Amino acid sequence: MTRVYNFSAGPAAIPDKVLQRVKDDIPEWAGTGMSVMEVSHRSREFVDLATSAEQNLRKLLAISEDYSVLFLQGGATLQFSMVPLNLAGDSQVADYVQTGSWSKKAIAEALKYCRVNVVADSADRNFTYIPNQDGWQKSTDAAYLHYCANETIAGVEFPFIPDVGDTPLISDMSSTILSRPLDVSRFGVIYAGAQKNIGPAGITLVIVRKDLLGRARAITPSLMNYEVYDKSGSMTNTPPVFAWYVAALVFENLLDQGGLGVIAERNRAKAGKLYDAIDGSNFYSNPVEPAVRSWMNVPFVLANSDLDTKFLDEADAAGLANLKGHRSVGGMRASIYNAMPEAGIDALIEFMREFERTNG
Ligand code: PMP
Repeated sequence: MTRVYNFSAGPAAIPDKVLQRVKDDIPEWAGTGMSVMEVSHRSREFVDLATSAEQNLRKLLAISEDYSVLFLQGGATLQFSMVPLNLAGDSQVADYVQTGSWSKKAIAEALKYCRVNVVADSADRNFTYIPNQDGWQKSTDAAYLHYCANETIAGVEFPFIPDVGDTPLISDMSSTILSRPLDVSRFGVIYAGAQKNIGPAGITLVIVRKDLLGRARAITPSLMNYEVYDKSGSMTNTPPVFAWYVAALVFENLLDQGGLGVIAERNRAKAGKLYDAIDGSNFYSNPVEPAVRSWMNVPFVLANSDLDTKFLDEADAAGLANLKGHRSVGGMRASIYNAMPEAGIDALIEFMREFERTNG
């Protein structure tokens, strides 16, 4: 079996070079005489790896010492609870922007812990746009404002960082982190599940401004308290060593490629090509406003949905895997994270043209 082009939204493709390195490192890693899955997280070798992973991530995103970098578990979903537990009192209000399924889930979870003010909502047009910031109904005393920078299901991405003054800005960047340079200094907390642009599922990245540590409410479980992880170097309990190790290799690989400026140009070109192909056909369409289309997740529908299964079966047979859209919206979705090479986009476009020619 040869490797296919994997368009999954997550767990998603991992760079070939990283996979090769993982293969080489098993069964013996870093002179330890064992694989990385078997070493103690407190061993010198693993602590060195964790230190260099953090340093490389700081380099990639130009993260200053004002921020703590944490590697946690529980996925981005646990952050939906950790953010309010760590940053809002139960009688406080937190502002949320609702631009798709993931921000909606974050809101549903936050409602268990604090008051929520939805400052803007794009559900009226099926999450295909981002409400203009001028119309956002922000609270005057919000503990923070939360938004999802890239909605993985609708394929909608903020092309700007919201302007919130002194209110801490919190962002779910699960499906856009490391796709381009980012001004981290604008944020209070950035979080991301790993299984898109970072590595395997099982580890969650949280970048938190240090002055926001120590605000968790008393009932917050220790394993959900940012300050506890900050003090323990993210080793409060046994961390997911393998996922952490692969993430470290991914960071190294991104630096080797020239950093996020280079990656961004590639991502822009890849997404542009695919959207052009969709827009240039009468058979495929994408409903999202062009200015807010995601570089990472490209949903599209066929003119005739009766052909969906045939499209997916033939795509699979052509080595183009996981193009089925999210179960909540149907249609197709091509997730084209950093590890998707341009050749994968070219192969998809060629397949789509041929499918249209024979079925359109
Ligand atoms: N937020 C976004 C934007 C996502 O895409 C996802 C997963 N696809 C999640 C949150 C949930 O992540 P996890 O499965 O890591 O909890």
